[in-house]
Amino acid sequence: MRVGIGTDVHPFEPGRPCWVAGLLWEGVDGLAGHSDGDVAAHAACDALLSAAGLGDLGSNYGTSEPRWEGASGAELLAETRRRVEAAGLTIGNVAVQVVGNVPRLGPRRVEAEAALSAVLGAPVSVSATTTDGLGLTGRGEGLAAIATALLVPASCSAEPPAREGA
Ligand code: MG
Repeated sequence: MRVGIGTDVHPFEPGRPCWVAGLLWEGVDGLAGHSDGDVAAHAACDALLSAAGLGDLGSNYGTSEPRWEGASGAELLAETRRRVEAAGLTIGNVAVQVVGNVPRLGPRRVEAEAALSAVLGAPVSVSATTTDGLGLTGRGEGLAAIATALLVPASCSAEPPAREGA
């Protein structure tokens, strides 16, 4: 099995739609960036690429790759899943923690987990925290996310045979 880690940060940009964890958040400033600024999706992509040894978000979808300009977090996750699976790996699970004041993820956590899990075909857990007013997220300048991913070789990921007596 292989683990990976990813981090992403984007500044808020008033007037942009706010996409976080694959969901549109009405009434909240969006995040600036080359794509939709979905820090949760981007951190998850980075963690998956890290676990697979396939580089990172910048080396896969960076500003030198104009076809990914404006891509949604879900599109990047779907493509990352494709690249991970092409490398002979299956996604075990992904955990994402969003760090910031807004949007408040709690009320839509289950919805966010379902959206990201559907794209990746594996369980994705989403959690959130604040920094007690400290740092760029605490001052409301932007939003951050941290993710870990677990990958399993595709040859080992088939359902294990049921144990006798189980
Ligand atoms: Mg990003």
